[in-house]
Amino acid sequence: MSVTHRLTAPAPGWTTTTDVVVVGSGVAGLTVALNVRKAGLRAMVVTKAMLDDGSTRWAQGGIAAALGEGDTPEQHLDDTLVAGAGLCDEEAVRTLVTEGPDAVRRLIATGAAFDRGDDGAILLTREGGHHRRRIAHAGGDATGAEISRALVAAVRSDPGIELIEHALVLDLLTDADGHAAGLTLHVMGEGQRDGVGAIRARAVVLATGGMGQVFSATTNPAVSTGDGVALALRAGAAVTDLEFVQFHPTVLWLGPEAEGQQPLVSEAVRGEGAHLVDADGVRFMVGQHELAELAPRDIVAKAITLRMQAQGAEHMFLDGRHFGAEMWEQRFPTILASCRAHGIDPVTEPIPVAPAAHYASGGIRTDPHGRTTVPGLYACGEVACTGVHGANRLASNSLLEGLVFAERIAADLADRHRAGELPERSVDVAAARAAQSVPLPPSEARAEIQRLMSRGAGVLRSAASMADTAAGLTLLAEQAYAHVAEEKPADPRVETWEAANLLLVGTALVAAAAQREETRGCHWREDFPERDDAWRRHLITTLTASGDPVSTPEEQ
Ligand SMILES: Cc1cc2nc3c(=O)[nH]c(=O)nc-3n(C[C@H](O)[C@H](O)[C@H](O)COP(=O)(O)OP(=O)(O)OC[C@H]3O[C@@H](n4cnc5c(N)ncnc54)[C@H](O)[C@@H]3O)c2cc1C
Repeated sequence: MSVTHRLTAPAPGWTTTTDVVVVGSGVAGLTVALNVRKAGLRAMVVTKAMLDDGSTRWAQGGIAAALGEGDTPEQHLDDTLVAGAGLCDEEAVRTLVTEGPDAVRRLIATGAAFDRGDDGAILLTREGGHHRRRIAHAGGDATGAEISRALVAAVRSDPGIELIEHALVLDLLTDADGHAAGLTLHVMGEGQRDGVGAIRARAVVLATGGMGQVFSATTNPAVSTGDGVALALRAGAAVTDLEFVQFHPTVLWLGPEAEGQQPLVSEAVRGEGAHLVDADGVRFMVGQHELAELAPRDIVAKAITLRMQAQGAEHMFLDGRHFGAEMWEQRFPTILASCRAHGIDPVTEPIPVAPAAHYASGGIRTDPHGRTTVPGLYACGEVACTGVHGANRLASNSLLEGLVFAERIAADLADRHRAGELPERSVDVAAARAAQSVPLPPSEARAEIQRLMSRGAGVLRSAASMADTAAGLTLLAEQAYAHVAEEKPADPRVETWEAANLLLVGTALVAAAAQREETRGCHWREDFPERDDAWRRHLITTLTASGDPVSTPEEQ
């Protein structure tokens, strides 16, 4: 298989070489880099902004693992399967929950400091869908920041890991056998490696995180533009479960015009006993689910959305006034500060909240070793679909998935290296030139894509809403082609490459969501409100020869 489509970009002006090139510097990418080093392989980490600029740094609640007394991987497995609504790959989940506790211990050995009680034991909290206290946290609600700090410090102290910051990876390079052989990238700024270049490598690992920026309101940072999924599609890889986007129920509501990354009010706040109420103070989750406010996220997000619709309200409220100032300051310092920065004091008033795009349960399809369908191309973390999340991710399973499957990729690369199956690769320049160039939309298209996606493919979806969104996205793509024909193409630069990636992943997501005519997990169809087990199968998305995403139900 070879790369069939590429982003329009200048030819590479420089080339460098490594053993394993890792794209992304969140929990997944940095864990791969640290672990391939143990096998004696050189690693290069390429990242779009600063090393800590992905979602990892923003994670608040914590990392789930059966570490507590009386808890077992089996119970963690059960809760994960329930959240996944019949679409989890049970073996992948078993791997996650059994390898998870030791992976967290290794993370601690790398330097991450988790909150501990007076007896020295790791403190564990509960989050939605978990029947046990099994969420380890750091700095109260600053878990991701601590994990990121520890991993960044570890990679910075390893001279065998080269770090390239402020560099946008564009497309995959393959050799004549169709094996991944490196990638093209654009380095922002000035220096020896300025502009578009190429990295040659024995294997390529995508750890580019999520795609929340495809919607108007999201908890994801600006870098989460779905680049990895778009690159994989253009490279001929299969992606799956794209329709399962988790909308976090409780994101700080900043007004009707707010766009981009919005502050999260972690589920752990509900885990510690905050109540969801409407403007009249009614706890509307009570009686809707046995876990009330701690029901799985899709159920809470849907309940909030329905209540908002029924009452014509723009948001609901999260009431944690009964915690008192001391608990807010000690347990949730980040959330307290972010609410206060927006003029809301959770100690004295309920917090306005509404759902926003939070997590991509789907992504690039991988096997249990993180291998994609393109030989030599691996994926882990939020960009991957290992099968552990099914139709909906269980809270705090994502940091754990990033850790566990990153370690597995490194182990697979080490095994292949030892067996002599990871030779140097030569790049097939003719194949690279033969790939079709994807025209770039103008940078303003980003906001239009986000509006279209939130309007038609958000928490509530229907055939009509998604047809409108698909038509709007198609028009944007046609305009990009028309501008090329008129010899007025958009300039190739970060904003237009990101817009092209958002357009492709948005189009792929809507194609899958329109096809899945049922309600399951975090995919909610107003016109097909029931779960239909004829649909208990994955939708696999690939690109057609003309570059359009097409979704096919997996064979049973
Ligand atoms: C506000 C918030 C709170 C969360 N809370 C929790 C929680 O409590 N527990 C939990 O388990 N999960 C939580 N999550 C989810 C979790 O943080 C993410 O799923 C996880 O951190 C993803 O890690 P990652 O390594 O896959 O990607 P990220 O940490 O997002 O890193 C992706 C990296 O890829 C880089 N990148 C992207 N595209 C390119 C490109 N084209 N070229 C070069 N580099 C690129 C980015 O710059 C970044 O470095 C939360 C997420 C958010 C946003």
